[in-house]
Amino acid sequence: MNYELDHMEVREAITKLCANFSNEYWQDCDRNRKYPTEFVSELSRQGYLATLIPEEYGGLGLSISVGAAILEEIHRSGGNASACHAQMYTMGTLLRHGSVEQKRKFLPKISTGELRLQAFGVTEPNSGTDTLALTTSARLENGHYIVNGQKIWTSRAEHSDLLMLLARTTPKEEVKYKTEGLSVFIVDMRTVLNKSLNIKNIPTMMNHSTTELFFDNMPVPVENLIGLEGKGFKYILSGMNAERILIASECIGDAKWFIEKSARYACDREVFGRAIGMNQGIQFPIAKAYAQMRAAELTLKQAINLYEREQNPGEEANLAKLLCAEASWAAAETCIQTFGGFGFAEEYDVERKYREARLYQVAPISTNLILSYLSEHVLGMPRSY
Ligand SMILES: Cc1cc2nc3c(=O)[nH]c(=O)nc-3n(C[C@H](O)[C@H](O)[C@H](O)COP(=O)(O)OP(=O)(O)OC[C@H]3O[C@@H](n4cnc5c(N)ncnc54)[C@H](O)[C@@H]3O)c2cc1C
Repeated sequence: MNYELDHMEVREAITKLCANFSNEYWQDCDRNRKYPTEFVSELSRQGYLATLIPEEYGGLGLSISVGAAILEEIHRSGGNASACHAQMYTMGTLLRHGSVEQKRKFLPKISTGELRLQAFGVTEPNSGTDTLALTTSARLENGHYIVNGQKIWTSRAEHSDLLMLLARTTPKEEVKYKTEGLSVFIVDMRTVLNKSLNIKNIPTMMNHSTTELFFDNMPVPVENLIGLEGKGFKYILSGMNAERILIASECIGDAKWFIEKSARYACDREVFGRAIGMNQGIQFPIAKAYAQMRAAELTLKQAINLYEREQNPGEEANLAKLLCAEASWAAAETCIQTFGGFGFAEEYDVERKYREARLYQVAPISTNLILSYLSEHVLGMPRSY
């Protein structure tokens, strides 16, 4: 793969950084379900997790295409940015809707890595995809919101200081519009952990440090409410295009890793006295995965271009997430088939990346919901929910 890419200097720097974290490092994290603390610390130390934070708050003040290039290269190198990617897009809610005081208080420390903002609490066991059905409540009492309820799939909560939390401040029955009544808070988990906040790990098929959160009268100072009470759902939605673009970039990185690995193996592995890559039954699926990846990447580039021109590209960001997640999965399938039995051995990393790549058709948004968005908002078909 030798075509022109943007931000080559950043890509090369990330490749160099990732070279210090070997396959054995990622295998060890995966096998023991360990958070890649050393890797995340190094990314923080070199400022990459503050790429999108404006310079006035200590960040690099760069655009989303740089963030996308960073995440893509981490995945292309065989690593996994899911341990830290949320900081890039979660921070946007604070940046766009937080007060100047909140930004001054939190962003400089997030930029240096002194404060970790890795956790994003939206999904609940009984609401699932239907975010507006969430019931975790926040009730205002004497200068504090008192939070009660439960979240599920809150990733990285055990490795984060701050949590961006979406909770209900007005009962659903009392709001005029169903998108109102939810509010966003920035929760300093250090002050409430193991008291009114309890965290329980959820073991999963890949190493993802995801958890359940239980709130029992958890106090959140009123000054930690982001923006206006009741408008939280809109604030969260406003960050979704960035989230889709950044996750799609990781998918492209995964697809490239699978394709490069497959092509190399197809050249090296000899069976029946010749390279397996001489068989078109092996060659063609790899070439097809490459074509699918390149098409998805073009859609992603278009979404990034529009985003950087502030055109809020809902359609393109959704298309990019859908197509890139499908391209990475097609490449994963091709890779494990190309490797045959060796694809299942930990040593080759294929099975680990295969498990990791599967997630992106379900989270952070499932493929079905993207198809529903395209059907209703782009193609004008009737609403299904
Ligand atoms: C590893 C992991 C990490 C995650 N990290 C986070 C996180 O950090 N923070 C957070 O808030 N959430 C997180 N999530 C949650 C994730 O966003 C949800 O799992 C996802 O949105 C789907 O919700 P659900 O699992 O409850 O599925 P459900 O809502 O129960 O849906 C089940 C299936 O039905 C489909 N479906 C539901 N309704 C419709 C419909 N109307 N039309 C068509 N199909 C439909 C869904 O697409 C899905 O395929 C994570 C999930 C996982 C697995």
